[in-house]
Amino acid sequence: MADEAALVELADGVLAYVQPRGGWCVSNAGVLVGRDAVTLVDCTATERSALRLRSAIAERTPAPVGTLVLTHHHGDHHYGAGVFGPGLTVAAHERTRETMLREGMNLPSIWPDVQWGDVHLVPPQLTFTDRLALHVDELRVELVPVGPAHTTGDVVVWLPEQRVLFTGDLTFSQGTPFCVQGSLDGTLEVLARLRELDARVVVSGHGPVCGPEVLEANAEYLRWVREVAAEGFAAGREPLEVARAPNSALSPGCWSPSGWWPTFTAPTRSCAASRAASNCRCRRS
Ligand SMILES: [Zn+2]
Repeated sequence: MADEAALVELADGVLAYVQPRGGWCVSNAGVLVGRDAVTLVDCTATERSALRLRSAIAERTPAPVGTLVLTHHHGDHHYGAGVFGPGLTVAAHERTRETMLREGMNLPSIWPDVQWGDVHLVPPQLTFTDRLALHVDELRVELVPVGPAHTTGDVVVWLPEQRVLFTGDLTFSQGTPFCVQGSLDGTLEVLARLRELDARVVVSGHGPVCGPEVLEANAEYLRWVREVAAEGFAAGREPLEVARAPNSALSPGCWSPSGWWPTFTAPTRSCAASRAASNCRCRRS
């Protein structure tokens, strides 16, 4: 993975803006370039990162950003929206708007040391609950509500002709899946449905651009978390006790049965390095 955030070309006029290393609040975006306007899929968390995204787009096209589609309500995907001007149309699931308004700008209270810059909430003006098609010139862009999964208002962005899928945080590429504000079972159901799309390219909410294998890799991890939870529940143990156990899915440095998933804070360590650096006792040899 390159050290600097960069645009990655996926098809004609279809780009991903990928921010290494994809950890907490370091999110990706989609850039769909039309003749007269650009459509964004999410837009990063801080003023500085959004300005970088804006500069990267400006190097590609003089067209302004006209539309921003949000994959879900988490602020790391939209706090930078103000950078793209007062004329921006923001589109999101109805429940994403509701949750944004209810939670407000809550991330700075969780991570007060982050240099958020001049960020503010830009509530979606366009909301929907059913599938919607957006046309960026000849490019057909399908906005597909799914879930509850990662959150209660998840939308994936699907380009059927290019077979490019923007999943938002329904998948993490080389990072740990996360669904504490949604549903684990719901995420598994959605991942199964997304596999049927037969995507060529998948852009996750965090981490490098990848192929459809990320869908099953995330599902495998979540099935393992569910198994660990079920075993703990059956044994009468407290959730926190189960989570802190050395072989837990939630234990720092530990891995899923695939050996593929590091914890979110160490997204690029190899399995062997992770095991050497921790007391991980995953069952997979
Ligand atoms: Zn999220």
